[in-house]
Amino acid sequence: MGTKVQEIKNKFLKAIEGIKDAKSLEDLRIQYLGRKGEITNLLKHLKDMSLEERRHAGPMIQRLKIETEELLNKKLSDLAKSRGDISEIDITIPGKKITVGHYHPLSIVEKDIRRIFKAMNFSIVDGPEIETEYYNFDALNIPKSHPARDMWDTFWLKQSVPDPRLLLRTHTSPVQIRYMETHEPPFQIIVPGKTFRFEATDASHEIVFHQVEGLMVGKDVSLANFKFVIQEFFKRLFGKNLEVRFRPSYFPFVEPGLEVDLQCVKCGGKGCNICGNSGWLEIMGAGMVHPKVFEAAHYNPREWQGFAFGFGLERIAMIKYNIPDIRLFNSGDLRFINQF
Ligand SMILES: [Zn+2]
Repeated sequence: MGTKVQEIKNKFLKAIEGIKDAKSLEDLRIQYLGRKGEITNLLKHLKDMSLEERRHAGPMIQRLKIETEELLNKKLSDLAKSRGDISEIDITIPGKKITVGHYHPLSIVEKDIRRIFKAMNFSIVDGPEIETEYYNFDALNIPKSHPARDMWDTFWLKQSVPDPRLLLRTHTSPVQIRYMETHEPPFQIIVPGKTFRFEATDASHEIVFHQVEGLMVGKDVSLANFKFVIQEFFKRLFGKNLEVRFRPSYFPFVEPGLEVDLQCVKCGGKGCNICGNSGWLEIMGAGMVHPKVFEAAHYNPREWQGFAFGFGLERIAMIKYNIPDIRLFNSGDLRFINQF
């Protein structure tokens, strides 16, 4: 009897392997488990056996029947799945939490800055990141021999014909020239964007960083206007009144040039670790646009005047969120990013 059962089992296993559709599967089921099926017949013959034989064969045939049914059911669901009828959705499993992304801290600060300047009627302007030597240096009153040119360690592009010589812009100021070439004053713009310097990185220096350039030109735009605009900007950005302080400084494209210090956001001027106990944060360079820069843009410097300023987006974000190291922004470290 054992041989017979094994024989049927082997035959069935071989047959079910070749089944490709539900119809043939049903035929197979009838062939083995139907009223006149092979396994059914075996069961029917049990009653002709002696008690001894029955005791031995009975459980064996029953096991074969159960196994066959299981294999048929499994095959049926496999066929259905391969047709895409049944997806294995268990509606009782708790749902997967969808992880929603969020803005990078630099993007948050940039959005704030855009919003604030827009509300003060500034336009937001864009410019190319690959610049010509002319727009990055010459038009901004930084001629070849000028010592200030050394202040910007520059990424020059490899060119077969270097005319004009191309570079990755070292500041957003070239956009001033590009904008003035195609627009008539009066106007006020900001230019947020990426800038590049070929220099060693440390906690406050990065190769790639972001600047926000500002330019306002009109008949009688003065540093007093600048002081108001910038004070109002910081008030809206940090949500409190903060003093600003001007110190004379030098940038080739402004005359006079200024360093702008902001009353320390954390200690309010008393002195703390953020401001190095001075009570002030160095925050940007600014000044009145140099007549040479107006001339490069074909404006009459006797007719127009204006202020320009530039600050680092990273610097603002570091102050706002108390971030100790500029390199964290581009680190890709989720422990950092997920805090915002
Ligand atoms: Zn402080």
